[in-house]
Amino acid sequence: MDFITITNLEVFAHHGVFPEENEKGQNFYINAKLYLSTKNAGLTDELSESVHYGEVCELIYRHMREHTYKLLETVAEQLAAEIFASYPLVERLCLEICKPHAPITLPFENVSVTIERGWQRAFVAFGSNMGEKRDYIEKALTAMKEHKQVRVKKISSVYETKPYGGVEQEDFLNGAVMIDTLLYPEELLAFLQDLEKRAGRERTIHWGPRTLDLDILFYGDERIWEEDLTVPHPDMKNRDFVLKPMAEIAPYFIHPVYGKSMKEMLEELNRKEN
Ligand code: ATP
Ligand code: CA
Ligand code: CA
Repeated sequence: MDFITITNLEVFAHHGVFPEENEKGQNFYINAKLYLSTKNAGLTDELSESVHYGEVCELIYRHMREHTYKLLETVAEQLAAEIFASYPLVERLCLEICKPHAPITLPFENVSVTIERGWQRAFVAFGSNMGEKRDYIEKALTAMKEHKQVRVKKISSVYETKPYGGVEQEDFLNGAVMIDTLLYPEELLAFLQDLEKRAGRERTIHWGPRTLDLDILFYGDERIWEEDLTVPHPDMKNRDFVLKPMAEIAPYFIHPVYGKSMKEMLEELNRKEN
């Protein structure tokens, strides 16, 4: 991918663990690599199709002067968040914060912290079969749209489905949403669980009635196998209430484990069921 580079931007600021550093200040040097497609800018010669590197330098300068953090890690994290919020065209970035005058009593040339952050494509399934179902789903989607580190790209139709798993209960409303997010998988899970909680969800019977259920179906093509998080979401191949909305919003998305598109997986399930 194309990128824009800023090298050794000098900022006099007051970040550091020691009070003396916060008082006196010192020079920091910032290296940034902003990944974005510069193709449209190159073809149209329009700055609005790219990122104004002068403005990015000023943003970094201003942010570092207006805040005092203890850690270089925090400087980097906060700068990344602000750059992503201000420049929607930036897809990924690499930031290095250098502190060559850090209080170290041995001879050294430089210390620095480097981070890489970026937008990740993910898919989330939503479902409800209790109370004001449509309302719970609407509110969750609105909260996703409002989250600074989530961009809602596509929302499927809402499908009515018979309950799954053999527990006697009301019909479900189900669907799926395509997002881009800066959140890590565990952070995304925590955000979704918070939305479930806000919808008054109580965890009682497994596969039982619920006001709102939000599952991470995919996170890029990552495979995650943690105690509290399995991605891709298991059992998808047997669930038409997942595959139908997925085939609607991302028919050609390939399941990273099965190597089949959503459309193929839905067709296979339909054949099996008939
Ligand atoms: P299923 O996951 O089979 O659809 P469920 O949605 O009814 O069942 P829940 O009671 O909502 O299950 O969640 C149980 C736990 O599943 C959650 O606490 C969460 O930690 C874990 N979990 C594992 N993988 C995922 C995932 N991909 N998305 C959401 N939760 C997950
Ligand atoms: Ca579920
Ligand atoms: Ca769930």
